[in-house]
Amino acid sequence: MHPVVKPALRRGWRDRNTVQFGMTPAHAVTLSPVDTATGSFLDLLDGTRGLPLLREEGRRADVPARSVDALVARLARAGLVDDARGGGPAADALRDKPDVLERLRPDLASLSLLTREPGAAPARLAARRALRVRVRGAGRVGALLASVLSGAGVGEVDVRDVGRVEPWDVAPGGLPAEALGDRRDAAAQAAVRRAAPDRPPRHAHSPGSGAEDPGLSLVIFAPRDDVAVHAPDPFTADPLMAAGTPHLYAGVVEGTGIVGPLVLPGETGCAGCLHQDRTDRDPAWPRLVAQWRSGRARRVGACDLTLATAVAGLAAAHALAFLDGGSPSGAGTRWEVSLPGLTWRNRPVPPHPECGCGAAERGKREHSSTSGRTRATMAVQRPSTERRRTAGAARPTGTWRAHV
Ligand SMILES: [Zn+2]
Repeated sequence: MHPVVKPALRRGWRDRNTVQFGMTPAHAVTLSPVDTATGSFLDLLDGTRGLPLLREEGRRADVPARSVDALVARLARAGLVDDARGGGPAADALRDKPDVLERLRPDLASLSLLTREPGAAPARLAARRALRVRVRGAGRVGALLASVLSGAGVGEVDVRDVGRVEPWDVAPGGLPAEALGDRRDAAAQAAVRRAAPDRPPRHAHSPGSGAEDPGLSLVIFAPRDDVAVHAPDPFTADPLMAAGTPHLYAGVVEGTGIVGPLVLPGETGCAGCLHQDRTDRDPAWPRLVAQWRSGRARRVGACDLTLATAVAGLAAAHALAFLDGGSPSGAGTRWEVSLPGLTWRNRPVPPHPECGCGAAERGKREHSSTSGRTRATMAVQRPSTERRRTAGAARPTGTWRAHV
C-alpha cells in the first residue's frame, strides 16, 4: 500500500492537537489527538512512499515505526487515506495511461470522498471504462448529457436519434454549429468521442440491431419532444422493463427542467406508475395527454439553454451516482425546476398497484415480510448495505463528523 491522505480534503488545525480534514459538512472529519510531529508526518503520506519507506522516514522525524503503522491504520479507519497503487488490475491499466488519468484527476479526487476503503476510488473510476450507456435523444439536453458522461470516463456512450441537426439543436458542449445538416445521431456520437478522455475499449456486440441490448448498464431518455418529457409514454420503455434495464428520464418542457425518475424495473415507480398516479390526481390527465401527443409535432418548443445545460448536468450526475454503485435520490422521484425561481423540488413517482411493472406488489411484500427494506439489484444493494454498516459501526476513536 502507498498511502495518500485524500488530497480532496483540505487540512487545518482546529487547535494544538486536533486536525480537521475537509471544509464542508458533507465530508469534513476531525482527528484528535494528533501531536505536532505526527501532524508534520502527514505531509509524507502523498502516495509516493510505501510503508517500509514511511517507517524509515518516520525514524528520522522521531516518529517510531509502530506509530507510523498506527497512524496509517487510524486514518484508513476514518476513511481519510487512499492507496495510490490500489484498485486492482483495471486501476493499474488506467494508471498506465497517465494522460487519461490526468484528465480524470478531479473526478478521482471526488470519488475518493465517496469511498472509505483505500483503493476503492481508483477501482470505481476504472470501472466506468467498462460501462455501456445509451442516450435516446440528441437535442440540447441529450447530446450534452452524453458528452458529459463520456468526459467523466464512461467507456461507451451510444446516442440514438433520428433526423438531421437543426440550428436550435446546437448547444455548447453538445452539438456544434459545424454539424448543421448532419445526421443527429452521428453528430452526437462525434461530440461524445471528442469529450472522451480516452479511446473507448472495443466490445464484441453489434450496434444498430434496433433492439435494446441487454448488456446496457443504463438507458437515458432525453427526448427533444416536450410531451415525451412531461408525460413519458410507458410503451417506449416496454423492452427495458421486460429486460430489467435501469433507465432515467431527463428533459425540458416549457420553462421546467425535469430529471427523473430513475427506474429500477419492478422496484421503483416507472413511466406507467407515473401515468396512473397522475390520472388518480387529475381525471382529465389521459384526455390531455392524448391531445398533446396528437398535436402538431413539427414545432420548435421552448428550451432555455441554461435550463437544458443544468438538466443535462444533473441527469448525468444522477446517472453516474447510480452507475458508480450509489442510490441517488432520482429513484422513484422526478426532480423539477422552473424558470425563473430555479428552486429544485421533488415529486415522488410512487409504485402504482394498477401498473403492470410489479413495483407496488413488491413494495407491499417487503413491508409485510421484513421490517427493513431489501433490494435485489446489486447496484442498489451494495451502497445501502454499506450505509447500514457505516451507520451501525462505532466511529473510530477520536474521529467524528465536523460540524462546520
Ligand atoms: Zn410501474
